[in-house]
Amino acid sequence: MTRSEIGGRARNRLLLVNYHYVRDPGAAPYAGIHAMAPPAFAEQVGALARRFHMPHPDEALAFLRGQAELPGPSLLLTFDDGLKDHAWVAREVLEPLGLRGIFFAISRPLNEGRAAAVHKVHWLRAHLAPKIFRQRFLAALPREWRDPASDAELRRSATAMYVYDTVEEAILKFHINFRLPRQILDGVTSAMLAEEYGDEGAFCAATYLSADELAALHRAGHVVGAHGHTHAPFSALAAAELDAEMNECVAMIDRYTGGPPRWVAYPYGRERALPNDPEALCRRFGLDAGLTLQVGWNDGTGSPYVVKRINCNELPAMTAQPAAASARP
Ligand SMILES: [Zn+2]
Repeated sequence: MTRSEIGGRARNRLLLVNYHYVRDPGAAPYAGIHAMAPPAFAEQVGALARRFHMPHPDEALAFLRGQAELPGPSLLLTFDDGLKDHAWVAREVLEPLGLRGIFFAISRPLNEGRAAAVHKVHWLRAHLAPKIFRQRFLAALPREWRDPASDAELRRSATAMYVYDTVEEAILKFHINFRLPRQILDGVTSAMLAEEYGDEGAFCAATYLSADELAALHRAGHVVGAHGHTHAPFSALAAAELDAEMNECVAMIDRYTGGPPRWVAYPYGRERALPNDPEALCRRFGLDAGLTLQVGWNDGTGSPYVVKRINCNELPAMTAQPAAASARP
């Protein structure tokens, strides 16, 4: 059934849910890694699978592109950053329930043995007291970057974006994710990681899916999607840099899964992290869908290059309302 055949009648809806770390949140001394505990994750997925239709990614893609209906209110699970945790997720939770997810991987850890700055930051924050992390991190920056709280515009943007964090935390996160020059962030976090953890290659091996694990996900019927090379927000990249990031990531996925990706998830995913022209980017790299972290259900009539998706912590609010197709006359 095509979109025009569906016409004006109410359509079913698709909610894409995103997870990052699924590991014991008590394993590290501080709360830098916002992880979902494995038992809670397994329980949540089981409950969702009883309540919603859980389409295969290919079925979801046809709906998002307006080419097919869904049999009822539907939910698709996605996992960002190619984290090691996701091998367990797929094998121990999704597959026994007959579910298949999308796993969005970055290419730098496998291609270079270097971690994304965001994951170095998470690990450091999980292993250093908040005040110590803040002090050491800011002190290690060049002088002009040491006082983000004094920037009123940054303060406003930060608190608008990180609604679940304290003001102080939001400012630091925004500074780290959107303001600091990426080379500076990368250098400072690598130096701190070397001091606190040790070898960055070993950190990558412990933190990210291996080539074999990516290949195994694909073989098991999951989808491996692109998430960039370094995890820089696409909005921060010049056109040539963005192409270079995508080329690396697409080539890696092609190498380990035997074909180029059809899905991309834009790192960070909120409005100001998106590429300038998501559709042009997707078309250039042969991608059929681009996922954001803009909150909402998808009704199959929006652009497949700017798909709505929520964080797992937004699930209760998003699924409390009646999940049935909208009752518009
Ligand atoms: Zn990510």
